[in-house]
Formats: sequence, C-alpha cells, structure tokens
Amino acid sequence: MTPEKRVVVIGGGLAGLRLADRLGPAATVTVLGEESRVPYNRVLLAEVLAGRYAPEVTALPAPGPALRRGVRAVRIDRAERAVHCDDGTVAAYDTLVLATGSNAVLPPLRGLFEPGGRELPDGVHAFRTMDDCLALSAAVRPGVRAVVIGGGLLGVSAARALAARGAVVVLAQQGERLMERHLDAEASALLATHLTELGVEIHTECRVRGLTTTGPAATRRGADTPRRATGVELADGYRLEADVVVLACGVRPRTGLAEAAGLDVRTGIVVDDHLRTSDPRIHAVGDCAEHAGQVYGLAGAALEQADALASVLTGAPAPYTGTRALTRLTLGGADDRALDLAAFGETTPRPGDDVVRLADGTRRTYRKVVLRGDRLVGGVLLGELSTVGALARTWEGGEPPHDLFHLLTDDGGH
Ligand SMILES: Cc1cc2nc3c(=O)[nH]c(=O)nc-3n(C[C@H](O)[C@H](O)[C@H](O)COP(=O)(O)OP(=O)(O)OC[C@H]3O[C@@H](n4cnc5c(N)ncnc54)[C@H](O)[C@@H]3O)c2cc1C
Repeated sequence: MTPEKRVVVIGGGLAGLRLADRLGPAATVTVLGEESRVPYNRVLLAEVLAGRYAPEVTALPAPGPALRRGVRAVRIDRAERAVHCDDGTVAAYDTLVLATGSNAVLPPLRGLFEPGGRELPDGVHAFRTMDDCLALSAAVRPGVRAVVIGGGLLGVSAARALAARGAVVVLAQQGERLMERHLDAEASALLATHLTELGVEIHTECRVRGLTTTGPAATRRGADTPRRATGVELADGYRLEADVVVLACGVRPRTGLAEAAGLDVRTGIVVDDHLRTSDPRIHAVGDCAEHAGQVYGLAGAALEQADALASVLTGAPAPYTGTRALTRLTLGGADDRALDLAAFGETTPRPGDDVVRLADGTRRTYRKVVLRGDRLVGGVLLGELSTVGALARTWEGGEPPHDLFHLLTDDGGH
C-alpha cells in the first residue's frame, strides 16, 4: 500500500478508528462516522451511567482530520468504487472497510411503536450509544422506577448502574439465569445474589410482552404530547409500573449497506481470513463482521480484527484465525460491594470433560475451569480475578496447563 491509496472506512467506532491509527501514513485514510460526538469507547458507557466516569473519560484517540464526524454513508457504488453520504458528498476508494458495528435489538413488544411509527415512547431507552446513555442518565433520579429488559452483559451492567444512581430497579430476564451466554449456573446465582443485595429485583424466566403507555394527548396549543411509558406487561398478565424502561435485548450487526451493495451477508458481513468480503476491494471488521461463522460483538475481537486488517493492507498479512475473547466485567466501583467477573471459552462442560471448582462462600469467590483432555477449554472467575491473566494466556496459547492449582489460586490454595 502507498500513501496515494485511498482507504475509506465506514464507522468511527472502536474497530474503524483502531484501523485508521494502525494504517498511519501508509495510506490516505478517510473515516466516515455518523455520530457527531467525539469518538468514545462504548465498553465504558455503564460507568458513565453509574456516574463514576464523566463522558470525556471514554474518548478514543481520534485520527484528526481523517475522521469526518456526523457523516453517514448511505450507499456503496461498487462499480464506481465510491461511497455516497447523507450530506451529498461522495468518497472515492481504492479499498473500502465496513466497520459499522451493531444496533440494539428492539424486541417485538406490544405498544412499543405506534402503528406505522418508529419513535420510542418517552421513558424507553436502548443502551448502545452515548446519546442513549446520556438520555437515560438524565431520566434517572433516586426513587425512579426502572425496568431493565434483558439479563445479559448489557442488562446486568445497566441494572447495576441504575441501582448505583438510586433507582428502584427490576430486571426482567427471559432466560433461566443471568448472563447465560457467559456464566454457568453457579456463577449466575452468585451474580444474582450480588445484584439483589444492591437492591435490584430479579425476575428470571420472565417474558415481557408489552409496554403500557399514556396515549398521545392534544395539548392546549393543539400539538400532541408524546407517548410516555408507564410500565411493562408480563406474559403472565402481571404488570410492573415503570418510569424508565431499558431495552437490553442484545445487538444485531449493521449490515444494511453491505446487503444493498450485494455483498455476502449471513448474520454479519461474511469475511475470510484476510477480513475480505465477497468483493476483494471491500473488507469488514468489528461487530458487523462474521468470520468462520462467528460474530463476536466484543471489543477484544474488534481490535484484533482491525490490527489484522492493518497488516493485510500494509502488505504483511498474517491470516486472522479468530479471537479467543475473554469477557470481563466490573460491577461496582472501589467500594467493598464491587464484583469483578471474567469468563472465557466453554464454561459449561461436555460429557467427559474435567472440571476444577473452588468456591468460597464467605469471601464470595468462585473459580472454575473446564478441561478437555489436557487442554483448558473455558473458565469463569467471580470475585477474585488475580489469576485471570495467567489463565487467559494458557487458554489463548492452547498449551496444557502445567500447574493448574497455581493457575486457579495466587496463593497456592491457602
Ligand atoms: C453498554 C455497552 C457495554 C459493553 N461492554 C462490553 C464489555 O464489557 N466487553 C466487551 O468486550 N465488549 C463490550 N461491549 C461491546 C463493544 O462495545 C463492541 O464490541 C465494540 O464497540 C465494537 O466495535 P465496532 O467498531 O465494531 O462497533 P462500534 O463501536 O459500534 O462502532 C461502529 C460505528 O459505526 C458507525 N456507523 C454505522 N453505520 C454507519 C454509516 N452508515 N455511516 C457512518 N457511520 C456509521 C456507528 O454510528 C458507530 O459509531 C459493550 C457495548 C455496549 C453498548
């Protein structure tokens, strides 16, 4: 690649900006970012919501003038090798990179939208962008009744943050337990105890089927006052009152531009080991990309893919073979009520796997690893993370652990 080569990146998030940074002066890079804010790291949004971080703390290093903020790409013309933007400008490319991330999933709740409408009622918030986070933050005061729909990583982080702000929080989780994608049953139960002690009321196997709202009403000036959420309706008919409803029902890769351009899209935009889509001039990285059947939706994978693509584009390609993504979460601040957790790989054993488990009810710690033959295939740590780095390295390296007990305990088990 030479500096004359024009690389256009659609998406000024974690993956797009990391790629721009790694390419440096090796190419002429333009990043199109629809958000007009200073770029930020969404992993830290729960900390902003909890009031622990100011929004500025989440800022990502921006690639100076290469980033065109507040500009949305609306169409890719593959024949012309050009991207059309919503401000009427056209960006010509030699190489195009899609780093469009994902959208919050809006569940099919009765009453969420008015017929033919796409506006969320007042009081209902997704939790994906800084705008979502600040709008939610402005609606929260001590005593506000909040219902969080979804008990995955997002829902748990949001519930914890809202409770920290003094809201009265109910978390409704459709599945059997919290964070079921990442944690085993025992770790989920400990997490539930922790959240309950912070004042979060947890309902599992609880399907929310609808939203109750005030109807649109005409004001004296004749304009409609917006609809406002008043609660949620559960599948068993029970109703929970709410001033604030948070939709934390997962994310879906943003693939619309790629689909319209005729690229191969399954769940995400399909890429090969060089992060190349079905058009060799177009690549995809981050939450929007699907590699070897996998869409990660995690920051670590987004950064690794951006780094791998930078190598590809600068002529030193090392094939991208997938990311061994560790999920890490801190629920709480520096107080003694904080809970750290980390999970990686397969935390639920298959028949024939060996499991080593250390649980300390008094200190509320839980450590478990799953072994298949002599290989570490997964693990979960709660409350005590001092050995997470060593465990993750062993897992990532795929080497047999030579002293498993030391890997689980930093004190030799004493
Ligand atoms: C609240 C929250 C907490 C999270 N916590 C964790 C965590 O603890 N650990 C973890 O690993 N991951 C976490 N994640 C996930 C992590 O943030 C994502 O995996 C990561 O941000 C993906 O980076 P990305 O660049 O692919 O997408 P994004 O960071 O979403 O960036 C994509 C950008 O592209 C822009 N864009 C999209 N379409 C267009 C267009 N047509 N034109 C111009 N711009 C466009 C979007 O506006 C967005 O700014 C969390 C996410 C959220 C929301």
